[in-house]
Amino acid sequence: MKTTLPPRSAIAGRQRLAEVALSILIVLTPACSKPQPDLPPTTLDGPTMGTSYTIKIARPPAELDRKSLEAEVQAELDKIDSLMSTYRADSELSRLNRCKANEWFPVSPETAAVIEEALAIGRLTDGAFDITVGPLVNLWNFGHDRDESGESAKIPSPDEIERVKSRVDFRQVEVRTSPPAVRKLREDLAIDLSGIAKGYAVDCLAELLERHGVENYMVEVGGELRVRGTSHEARPWRIAVEAPTVGVRAIQTVVEPGDRAMATSGDYRNFFQEDGRRYSHIIDPRSGRPVAHRLVSATVLDPSCARADALATALMVLGPEKGYELALEEELPVLLIVDDDDGQVEKATPAFRKVVAE
Ligand code: FAD
Repeated sequence: MKTTLPPRSAIAGRQRLAEVALSILIVLTPACSKPQPDLPPTTLDGPTMGTSYTIKIARPPAELDRKSLEAEVQAELDKIDSLMSTYRADSELSRLNRCKANEWFPVSPETAAVIEEALAIGRLTDGAFDITVGPLVNLWNFGHDRDESGESAKIPSPDEIERVKSRVDFRQVEVRTSPPAVRKLREDLAIDLSGIAKGYAVDCLAELLERHGVENYMVEVGGELRVRGTSHEARPWRIAVEAPTVGVRAIQTVVEPGDRAMATSGDYRNFFQEDGRRYSHIIDPRSGRPVAHRLVSATVLDPSCARADALATALMVLGPEKGYELALEEELPVLLIVDDDDGQVEKATPAFRKVVAE
């Protein structure tokens, strides 16, 4: 059974496609499967972090109390929002971004752990993933203070780009885990965790479920997800990777991730058009501009959703050649989808090909 979601109204021209949840999750049952005794999954869902979350639990433990679980899930998401949102002036991250240079700013262990992971991905990708990219994200009108009026998007001047780019360098951030604290070596650094914190939220919810004895689940936040065990049909979870087409929802391929996370980053949902060119929210910190190559989508599998989330964004910055090279070096299950003159081509690593569903 294949579900293709209804097309979305794409707003053409110079306007921005509204940020839509990258709900790449479409659980499929193998066409030839014999119907299993369907105990419908327990499903929890709701809004979070400007997008949404979905949890599906197959064969929940008998003692699991749905209502109290829902409250715990919401509390966990609210905590992460209060720590890592740049959309809230009172969040821990926003307060860190306002603090002075060269002073250890005490943070929660969670924020310290996420920043530590983000800096490691920054080193691994030679700065392609750079959480201090916040000022550039805001300069290109993709940040928390973006202008949603739909007015023609302003392309910053080369001087503005150079000026703001000088504020971006993840090597000017230090993190300490005990006691947890962060130090900025420049006062005007601004950290943006949007490229890793949703994945981190998925990991937190997965661990919360496991603390409650849940062994078969799918957790998804804004398109990043993690599965464990089997679906309600007692089969491996089958997840669709979305075809990177503007305004149309279709399936690119279907995978069985096993007990792993999967994250996708793309330039086809959150972007604006200007004189026929697409400017997406994935910023190359080295150029100070939205990525300009023909890689349109990167999907990464990893045991950690935070790592998969950050790596997917990093591969989008590195582009089709360098991104694929890194994926091979690190033996990552990765699917890159690249525009070419006759349409799109897939570049899947051998590790990814092993998880493609028959
Ligand atoms: P991904 O590819 O996963 O991440 C891209 C994002 O990462 C960009 O939007 C940018 O912020 C950042 N980025 C761009 N280039 C780089 C780079 N080179 N290195 C590192 N990072 C980069 N959105 C709202 O509209 N309203 C909200 O209230 C809101 N609250 C949020 C709260 C939290 C805690 C978080 C983490 C995010 C929140 N967001 C909110 C943002 C939204 O949820 C998504 O995170 C955002 O749109 C990007 O997710 P994505 O999957 O589309 O892109």
